[in-house]
Amino acid sequence: MKILVVNCGSSSLKYQFINMDGEKVIASGIAERIGIQGGMLTHKVPGKDKKQFSRELKDHSEAFKLLMEVLIDPEYGVIKSMDEIDAVGHRVLHGGSKYSESILIDENVKKAIEECIPLGPLHNPANLMGINACEEVLKGVAQVAVFDTAFHQTMPPEAYLYAIPYEYYEKYKIRKYGFHGTSHKYVSARAAEILNNDKLKIITCHLGNGSSISAVKDGKCIETSMGLTPLDGLIMGTRSGSLDPAVVKFLVDNENMSVDEVDTMLNKKSGVLGISGLSSDFRDLEQAAEEGNERAQLALNAFYYRVAYTIGAYTAVLGGADLIVFTAGVGENSSQARENIVNRLGYMGIKIDAEANDMRGEEKVISTPDSLVKVMVIPTNEELVIARDTQRLAFSK
Ligand code: AMP
Repeated sequence: MKILVVNCGSSSLKYQFINMDGEKVIASGIAERIGIQGGMLTHKVPGKDKKQFSRELKDHSEAFKLLMEVLIDPEYGVIKSMDEIDAVGHRVLHGGSKYSESILIDENVKKAIEECIPLGPLHNPANLMGINACEEVLKGVAQVAVFDTAFHQTMPPEAYLYAIPYEYYEKYKIRKYGFHGTSHKYVSARAAEILNNDKLKIITCHLGNGSSISAVKDGKCIETSMGLTPLDGLIMGTRSGSLDPAVVKFLVDNENMSVDEVDTMLNKKSGVLGISGLSSDFRDLEQAAEEGNERAQLALNAFYYRVAYTIGAYTAVLGGADLIVFTAGVGENSSQARENIVNRLGYMGIKIDAEANDMRGEEKVISTPDSLVKVMVIPTNEELVIARDTQRLAFSK
């Protein structure tokens, strides 16, 4: 069985085509600049050179049609006909409080994704465009929606309610939702599998360009750091994370900025980019800091501090912690970030094994045997979770 996993952004369409017999990626890539000049699809097949296809892509439907052409291309393709695509799984940003699980897409699900557009104004419209494009091109093929918010739906009200008048929760469903749910779910489930124990208090740290932390008890999420939108919580590549809400009014009053401009600044010009004034990329910052750039070091320190601070809070929420898991671009690859975060947690009896930590992208325990809390690195695999959910929902009767 072959499953296509699709992740649509406002002007992009990322894909992975997975053979579920052996769970192997057959092809992957990205169509970019959809709706703007210079459309381009980059296609990768394991073991071969990547191939780029330039074509103006008016909308997601055109991008999807190009993807189909590439997949069945006699030279660069991986299948003979579109009939070999058994089902499609879509990453969908916001499912509001309606969906705590992945679901087979029908007209009602599409309507619900549309109703969540005010909660995910940048992503949900793109996700819907991807679903409609796929419906048009692959008529009759089962499609499944996998929500970034679903795993966090088990949070109790005391964790997800904001302390603003309750009527805004009732009227608009303004509350904490959390994101990166597929990743937190995958790494916490994988940790339970590796340790052969599903009764664990786990703190999962998804640290990448976007970053979030979750507290997971016995496989269920009880707290997470992103909120109504993915702007809240940790310091990220370009996002501020948590700050005093009064900062917005201060900037509107004193910088002659509109609320929209402040919102863009908080999403695109803040985080480690904002503090360093240099880059949102952790590799750049680590190198610059090593060469003596103090602002790069300050940005990294602020990032490590906020992660350690949140782990401390989540240890309280969980009533202790058995395991801390690092994942995503920074969590999987930066031994320096892991070391600097874990070294701030010595009071919990955590000890990092410097030798074990000196690696990238491996599934591995990096704490010492006598550490009171285990620390692991588990590379995330959101596409595989989407493909597995798609297979389960599309083919179970
Ligand atoms: P993601 O959003 O999960 O793809 O993560 C992207 C982030 O991971 C970027 O800031 C990269 O700089 C960072 N990253 C990737 N590889 C490394 C590495 N070897 N060391 C430090 N940071 C890395």
